[in-house]
Amino acid sequence: MENEEERLKKEIKELETQIEPKRKRLHEIWEAKSDAVKERIQRAIQGNGHFELHELIFAAKSRCKGCSSGLAYPKDIGPDGAWYCSAILLGKAARGSTHEAAIRFAFYEVKSEKQTSARGATTRPATILP
Ligand SMILES: [Zn+2]
Repeated sequence: MENEEERLKKEIKELETQIEPKRKRLHEIWEAKSDAVKERIQRAIQGNGHFELHELIFAAKSRCKGCSSGLAYPKDIGPDGAWYCSAILLGKAARGSTHEAAIRFAFYEVKSEKQTSARGATTRPATILP
């Protein structure tokens, strides 16, 4: 019994040292994805690039106060991201138009179309108008 206990502790410790670098690498990959997405958002805000519908998660009900497009965020944005006006992310905002500022996840809760409590509600457009 004592031997089994010691053996298991040793095996667990060994596995943990194998897992640690994998966990670290996975976080690096997520961070790189998040950085790339944040760069694309900045380009979209500058009118110099856009996201496709399938790359975005939409709000269940919350819309931009400026143009009433649904709020959205890109899938790989990471936990320190924000909601944006989807017209901006999709590259469909009219020149000179005003839109809701970024709504940080950390400060405001916006219900996502992915939450079961949204009961299928979404601001996602069926297609992007030209
Ligand atoms: Zn807007």
